[in-house]
Amino acid sequence: MNNSVIMLGTGSPRLNSERIPSAQLLIMGNLPILVDCGEGATMQLVKSGIPPQEVKYVFFTHLHADHILGYANFLISGWVEGRRELTIVGPLGTKKMHELLLDMLKEDIAYRMSLGRPEAGIYDVKIIEIEVPSTVALDLPIEITCARMNHNVPTFAYRFEKDGKSIVFSGDTAPPTDGLAKLAEGADMIIHDSALTLIEGDQMENAEKIWANLQKEHCTPAQAASTAEKAKVTSLVLTHFLPKMNPKKVLAEAENVFSGDIFVPNDLDVIKF
Ligand SMILES: [Zn+2]
Ligand SMILES: [Zn+2]
Repeated sequence: MNNSVIMLGTGSPRLNSERIPSAQLLIMGNLPILVDCGEGATMQLVKSGIPPQEVKYVFFTHLHADHILGYANFLISGWVEGRRELTIVGPLGTKKMHELLLDMLKEDIAYRMSLGRPEAGIYDVKIIEIEVPSTVALDLPIEITCARMNHNVPTFAYRFEKDGKSIVFSGDTAPPTDGLAKLAEGADMIIHDSALTLIEGDQMENAEKIWANLQKEHCTPAQAASTAEKAKVTSLVLTHFLPKMNPKKVLAEAENVFSGDIFVPNDLDVIKF
């Protein structure tokens, strides 16, 4: 079985020349599924050799800017390149976001339709909004379940399972992560928010206040490793990094807590599971 995840974006909302915001492409069997779509995600797909029009499923963990701002480009470019069906899944508000984009781009879309492109793939996008964590019913040979995370907007972690192989995406979350550990129990891999790596000498206005608040929204590498250890997963992939984080320190911090395989990826790294 050919299962892998391409870490399209391992960054955060903080600007970083080496890491775009959150986006991952899960390939399960031969089916590509986009999980979050931060700005730049579509070009990262192209760089990875994946035509965006071949990606027909998108899951949003939540609707923060660093997870959705690439969606407009993904939606339009994929359709322009020939995608004629698309399903998106996310928390309440996903439909409104999609419709606002369609409204913002309606003249552009009308022009492209005047050149012969059909409505299919742009005006018939299937939208599934999750209110209560449950099984996500899609016509796919993959079992998809989710759990609510601790963040400042409704946020869901997703678990994808097929033929005994499973992977979990945490989205953004702060501890306690008992619900996440339960969702990820025995999974082969967990992709985990690990944003809390201190930026030494951060010059941003209100840096201390922002840092204090981040404790309520994200995890440290050690906290992510603790979830992985509790869930007894095989491997842990850390992501959602702030600029200037030190990969060696991040790895060492997680290794103190989790005994399985740990990855501290760069953008476009491909990890098999
Ligand atoms: Zn967030
Ligand atoms: Zn985020």
